[in-house]
Amino acid sequence: MSHLPAYDVIIAGAGSIGTPTAFYLARAGLSVLVLEALPSVGQASNKHAIGGVRATHSDVSKIYLCAESIKVLSTWREIYGDDIEWRAGGYCFVAYEQQVKKTLQDLLACQKSFGLNIGWLEAEGIRAIIPDIQMEGLLGGTFSPEDGSASPMKTCFAFYRHAKEAGAEFHFNEPVIQIGTGSGQIQSVTTAQGTYACKYLINAAGSWAADISNLVGIPLPVKPEAHEAGITEPVQPMFSPMIVDIRPREGSSNFYFYQHPTGKIIFCLTPNPPILGNYCQDTSAFLPLASQRLIELMPKLMNLRVRRTWRGTYPITPDGLPIFGRTEALDGYLLAAGVCGQGYMLGPGVGMLLTHLIEGRLNAAEEECLRALRLDRSFTSAEKLK
Ligand SMILES: Cc1cc2nc3c(=O)[nH]c(=O)nc-3n(C[C@H](O)[C@H](O)[C@H](O)COP(=O)(O)OP(=O)(O)OC[C@H]3O[C@@H](n4cnc5c(N)ncnc54)[C@H](O)[C@@H]3O)c2cc1C
Repeated sequence: MSHLPAYDVIIAGAGSIGTPTAFYLARAGLSVLVLEALPSVGQASNKHAIGGVRATHSDVSKIYLCAESIKVLSTWREIYGDDIEWRAGGYCFVAYEQQVKKTLQDLLACQKSFGLNIGWLEAEGIRAIIPDIQMEGLLGGTFSPEDGSASPMKTCFAFYRHAKEAGAEFHFNEPVIQIGTGSGQIQSVTTAQGTYACKYLINAAGSWAADISNLVGIPLPVKPEAHEAGITEPVQPMFSPMIVDIRPREGSSNFYFYQHPTGKIIFCLTPNPPILGNYCQDTSAFLPLASQRLIELMPKLMNLRVRRTWRGTYPITPDGLPIFGRTEALDGYLLAAGVCGQGYMLGPGVGMLLTHLIEGRLNAAEEECLRALRLDRSFTSAEKLK
């Protein structure tokens, strides 16, 4: 096997997490190689995301990291020139059940303590921003106007282009197949092309992160879970926010949808019971379930035609929280894995976090994120707004 050039950092995976991370590391002056199994950037889960971006979570680390991401995504066009379709349409979690109302209201104090712009609206207030929402049984909901959406593919390509300009190298069709270690630290990464020496390896392999980690004997509790989505024909503008319904229904748990600036409605459903595995062929069972939920929340959409459906995976963890940072057992091996259903919105925030970790200039909030999201936690808590 030939010995190839050495890098400060090798990243496994050029998806929602690996690509922005490459950008921030290269800009910090580090030599970076991204190894990607597929032929181009963002072709696995990144491509399947519907583009929702919010800081309004139930976990403080995710609140911090996604707030950092929003600063980047909302100003990207102004600073770097690429149109990534950012729109601050807001997020609206609707409550049709007392239990959902309580969950959402209980979270507000914590969300507000982080300076998030979020508040409770009674049913009439919700109708004022979403005129066609189902009013029957509506108890109100939260609204956070600074959350929004953007294009995951355009974002990934923008980070890719600017990462390359900053000096990062990307090798496609080149999966990581072996990892060299010695004296308790990362030494090298091997692909079919040869062996590259490195000081750090970042595991950003999404739904395949556990496979990479098995190569160094560090089990990772990350599994792929299938989620399906769809897009309709375009119609006149009706509403701006992402509408999220966290009520469980027959065959599904969460359901969320928004209207893209082009007029198309994009929607996503969490199957219940969960479907585990990396198989990405969409099912005929999905559309009847999803359209029923869509019409239940907005009856006016009844006759809308669906143009396309697809299936992708969330890289899930037992507690619904990601796994970021160092591992005790192996120096230089960094995790950027298990981002569940929020990998697109976490991407820029995580890229900055890991760059600051490697540079040794973490701020107090970042230290706290790494403490809370470390691999050797108990995984017993549960994210309330997965
Ligand atoms: C239907 C649906 C809707 C979603 N909507 C949203 C949303 O609105 N907002 C949001 O934030 N998130 C959303 N998500 C979740 C989001 O897509 C994921 O959390 C995110 O894309 C995961 O990012 P990642 O970088 O970890 O994985 P990926 O983007 O999948 O990147 C991992 C990369 O690693 C590569 N890889 C694997 N093995 C190897 C190897 N051995 N060597 C080298 N490379 C390797 C893969 O080919 C892949 O390109 C959605 C997901 C789905 C399925």
